[in-house]
Amino acid sequence: MDYSRIENVVNVPTLQEKRVTVFGAGASIGLIEDLVRSGVRRFLIIDFDRVGAENMARQGHDSADIGQFKADAAKAKIMEINPEAEVEILTLDLTKVPEDVAATYVAGTDIFVAATDSFACQALVNRLSLMLNVPVVSVGIYAGGTGGEAVWTDPIHKLPCFRCLCANRYAAHEQQLLTAPNVSLDPSSQGADIFSVRLIDAIAGQLVLGLLTQGAANRYGRLIEQLGDRQFIQLSMSPEFALNGRDIVREKLQVPEGNEAYVTWNSIALADPDRGQLPCLDCEQIRRHKFELVDGHYVRRIPGQRDSGTSPDAVVGGTVS
Ligand SMILES: [Zn+2]
Repeated sequence: MDYSRIENVVNVPTLQEKRVTVFGAGASIGLIEDLVRSGVRRFLIIDFDRVGAENMARQGHDSADIGQFKADAAKAKIMEINPEAEVEILTLDLTKVPEDVAATYVAGTDIFVAATDSFACQALVNRLSLMLNVPVVSVGIYAGGTGGEAVWTDPIHKLPCFRCLCANRYAAHEQQLLTAPNVSLDPSSQGADIFSVRLIDAIAGQLVLGLLTQGAANRYGRLIEQLGDRQFIQLSMSPEFALNGRDIVREKLQVPEGNEAYVTWNSIALADPDRGQLPCLDCEQIRRHKFELVDGHYVRRIPGQRDSGTSPDAVVGGTVS
């Protein structure tokens, strides 16, 4: 492939050596294809589902793919763009195998892309990320497709994991399991059309490039440093966007009512939005971090740094913003 038109913004030689594991090959097809066009050529694609006729309207699959495993269809699309790509596929539900077995399947990866609408799968990816020290980009669309999120974690350089960032969501799912285990809290894909998918995928794809080429002297190489600790990105994708009745994007941007320039398609980037709410059981179990309740908020203590309690590296938590 000829990357001459993008080599000033993307460190293609670095990207070509990286291996990307994608969980979910449905709505992520466009994202996968665009990563190939940007220089990624080594993939593991995981999806146990097959392409159905209903997938045409909102996923990047075609009528010729119907009946095939989505992972197989994804591989064919990758090879069409770059015949020199190296693609492995796995048509297994990893949430149904023991965690240590799942870890052996996905070892040797430079980044995970969590692109399923299954909370159980997102939660598994987080644990695998901590076990194997692999960064993650998670992408999700809210009910109705009016908004979405792209969340990045980097266990090598950054403290909060997906469970830290989404403590309240984990609590809601646990509560649901206790009260109505047969009713899923996973957002329905109803109404999440292809344009909504592509909008949030474009942000997720840029995060993947940023994480994989971190430190390069170009636009994507600087992206993660520019984001700093703002790992939780939310995007409004319709003037009707609201979460629990509130336009949180408008609130965080402090845009006054009546500002004519504000309609939609705005994003916010938040640092650990659920910080201090709950102890993170994944960080406790896998990273051996400790959480203590201080003034009504959970504060993280990292083993070995306990005595340097005033260091910002040692203690994370406190007031919830
Ligand atoms: Zn955590």
